[in-house]
Amino acid sequence: MTSSADLLVLGAGPAGLAAAWRASRRGLAVTVLERAPAVGGLAGSFEVAGVRVDHGSHRLHPATPPTILADLRGLLGDDLQTRRRSGRLRLAGRWVDFPLRAGELAGTLPAPLLARVAAEAVAQPLRRARTDSYAATLRRGLGPTLYEALYAPYAEKLWGLPGDRISAEQARRRVTADTPWKLASRVLRIRRNRGQGRVFYYPRRGYGQISEALADTAVAAGARIALGTAVEEVHPGPESVRVVAAGEEFHAGQVFSTLPLPALAAMTNPGPPAAAVEAARQLRFRAMVLVYLVCRDGRWTTYDAHYLPGPETPVTRISEPANYRDSADDPDDRSVLCLEIPCDVGDEVWRADDATLRELADEALAITGLPPVRAVEVAVRRLPRVYPVYEVGFERRLDDLDRWAASLPRITTFGRLGLFAHDNTHHAMVMAYDAVDALRPDGLDRTAWAAARSRFAAHVVED
Ligand SMILES: Cc1cc2nc3c(=O)[nH]c(=O)nc-3n(C[C@H](O)[C@H](O)[C@H](O)COP(=O)(O)OP(=O)(O)OC[C@H]3O[C@@H](n4cnc5c(N)ncnc54)[C@H](O)[C@@H]3O)c2cc1C
Repeated sequence: MTSSADLLVLGAGPAGLAAAWRASRRGLAVTVLERAPAVGGLAGSFEVAGVRVDHGSHRLHPATPPTILADLRGLLGDDLQTRRRSGRLRLAGRWVDFPLRAGELAGTLPAPLLARVAAEAVAQPLRRARTDSYAATLRRGLGPTLYEALYAPYAEKLWGLPGDRISAEQARRRVTADTPWKLASRVLRIRRNRGQGRVFYYPRRGYGQISEALADTAVAAGARIALGTAVEEVHPGPESVRVVAAGEEFHAGQVFSTLPLPALAAMTNPGPPAAAVEAARQLRFRAMVLVYLVCRDGRWTTYDAHYLPGPETPVTRISEPANYRDSADDPDDRSVLCLEIPCDVGDEVWRADDATLRELADEALAITGLPPVRAVEVAVRRLPRVYPVYEVGFERRLDDLDRWAASLPRITTFGRLGLFAHDNTHHAMVMAYDAVDALRPDGLDRTAWAAARSRFAAHVVED
């Protein structure tokens, strides 16, 4: 079967859906092709034991631009709740509130550790170390003690590399408070604003409600969303692009791809030149196993998330989705926890069976002094591509691939994996809005898109 559209959108995560909605509203005939049986991508939700859960801890950050927030409020109404953050972080063998509070840090952390951090903070302007890797940048900015206690082990767990093999770009994109002074001013600012930095937005029915609302409104505006339709081939041409997905042919004047950039390179014909093929091969993604434990004793804790940066367990974070919202739909007699375990596709964690993952989860709770879960039910999801790995030198490889993608006629790539960025949902939506705004009747306005791309380069990921 063959179908045609003005715009084909590849992928129904927040980026693809926001683009589909905005383009349909402009009167374009839009078709979205999505491999999964449901919308939302990494930002989707699903049910475990009757409780809506996410793919790891997800919150809509207060940094969301006002236009996007206003659109989401319009779509979700009162279901988009403003919530107070209530996380905890394991630091030097103790639990501290996260986001950090100055007073609590001073009162909880071991005095020798605090003294070293303070001495290194005072010496910070004098440090003349290199800044050519994540480790070097943060050692210089934060001081060796804070770096080694918090950022070094967390980085190795998240991205599978020691800090000196991670690009300095990672520090810029991910660590918003990269000197002790910025860290302190951030902590104090939160206090002065009476908790402004401590709130987030979250939909009553799980984070995926954002994507579901975007999908519904896109469909209402005329878009077609084809689920269970994996894109297999992309054939760019001078007049239109031909896409083969789930055995069906689609033709469109323009294609927006939010698929992982290396995956797009592998399915495009003619393919990229040798240098870009090699670049695509070398760009790595970190995978993640998500372990959901059903706690049959009601709520497990009152916290929304526990952050585990230390090397004592491979688990990086444990969230309890029901604590992210206030919903009468959530049962009183059970709760579901989600443990995030970054790994590589095919490694021991990736291949572990449910019983082994359950043991690993129990061990993480025991080691960190968290309450045990007397659950018997375990659900597991394996995500092959969650974090783009910014290994030292990745910039050149990405640039090779990106230049090839930008040269494709009638195809524009964006979204978190489409641009190999760590970005948040609001960043992915900003990209979608900008891409549609750059569309002209005769194609994409390359100048407007280039300006948008340089704005995206300044995105800083919020935790
Ligand atoms: C553990 C974790 C925690 C996060 N926490 C937050 C947070 O707190 N706040 C926040 O704002 N963001 C958070 N994020 C980021 C957020 O999930 C992403 O920014 C967002 O999902 C990106 O949207 P996207 O549409 O660009 O990509 P995706 O959500 O990845 O969507 C891409 C879509 O393409 C589809 N696809 C892939 N290949 C094909 C194919 N061949 N054919 C058809 N379809 C295909 C996928 O199935 C997917 O639906 C987190 C991410 C992770 C992994």
